[in-house]
Amino acid sequence: SRVFVRAEKVAGEKRVTATADSVRKLKAAGLDVSVAPGAGRFAGITDEAYAAAGATIESSLPRGAGDVLFHVRPLTASDLDALPSGTVTVGVVDPFNNVGVLQKAASSRLTTFALDFLPRISRAQSMDVLSSQALLAGYKCVLLAADAFDRMFGMTMTAAGTLAPARVLVLGAGVAGLQAIATAKRLGGVVSAYDVRSSSADEVRSVGGTFIALDLEAADASGGYAKELGAARAQRQRELLTPFVEAADIIITTAAVPGRPAPLLITSAMMGGMKAGSVVVDLAAETGGNVEASMPGTSIPFPVAAGQVTVIGVRDIHSDLAIDASKLLAMNFANFVTALTVEGEVVPDFSDELVSGSCLTHDGAIIHPRITELFP
Ligand code: NAD
Repeated sequence: SRVFVRAEKVAGEKRVTATADSVRKLKAAGLDVSVAPGAGRFAGITDEAYAAAGATIESSLPRGAGDVLFHVRPLTASDLDALPSGTVTVGVVDPFNNVGVLQKAASSRLTTFALDFLPRISRAQSMDVLSSQALLAGYKCVLLAADAFDRMFGMTMTAAGTLAPARVLVLGAGVAGLQAIATAKRLGGVVSAYDVRSSSADEVRSVGGTFIALDLEAADASGGYAKELGAARAQRQRELLTPFVEAADIIITTAAVPGRPAPLLITSAMMGGMKAGSVVVDLAAETGGNVEASMPGTSIPFPVAAGQVTVIGVRDIHSDLAIDASKLLAMNFANFVTALTVEGEVVPDFSDELVSGSCLTHDGAIIHPRITELFP
């Protein structure tokens, strides 16, 4: 089989799904690799570097059944027009927001793999794009907060006096939140965190954070994910969080529920009691927002008594770390595809849960139960 690495089309998307190292890994598995000219330009990878690793530099797309297309951003309906029947696509699909494209992929007889649907089993960890990218996002959003904060993060004692440490509140302590806690600790912040999953308290403590236990029942779904709270519990959660929001200097929000808009954790009314000079970074701004006042890609001054709070809505944060994000993505992709490769051909084995868990369309139909149950 031949793997095609495309140049991403969305403005501001700097990541790419292959590096020279991942090309070597794909080649070692017997796969051919074609990389679109300039595909790695924003991630510091030249066409020459790909060619030296054994890739062909060409802008062509899959030409026949069994060819594989790698993509970072979800494919669009017009992307699919260019793909012959039997093409295997591998990438981030965001299926719940792209059902129309999936229907088209099925009727075009494409085999669609969504790496954002991989089961979270240990064998899938090296392929898990959500984790690899969330880790970078969690780190970077603390740096954004530190940059916008008019104070030091860590406690600092000088001859002229002592500067108090920043009090950091992290809401949502999954992969991104845990990395945010660890990063804020390293900068010297005093960090507390909250999550709705029952296993979260131990995870928060393991990275040095103080867990905030609210008088609210945990909401665990299968696969280590959280469940969406009903309206009354969500309201209760916001009431219970309000004093912690008011006490914080820095707030990082990362809460998400697969397939659902991000939960609203901080309303504008809750922010009225915050201290002037505080900073809120909403990592979920692009997917609905944990913070009512946030807007993706902007930094907004929010008026409070005696001044303002800065509200940063994150957008394209992975592209701010395009080199490392691409490095991890490329290995996630290569690890996934080589696991499906036998003697140089990609042959999905549907009895393998890696395949059945992440394959969304095959043989002319949408086949994943999580999609078919929602959109029969
Ligand atoms: P995610 O991106 O889906 O959500 C981020 C966090 O938001 C989660 O921790 C979730 O519990 C939390 N959240 C949702 N609703 C909330 C609310 N109303 N209030 C507060 N917090 C809320 O999650 P994720 O980062 O992908 O991680 C989910 C889980 O999967 C974690 O337990 C993580 O450790 C686990 N995980 C396991 C593997 C593996 O391979 N075994 C890999 C990655 C992650």
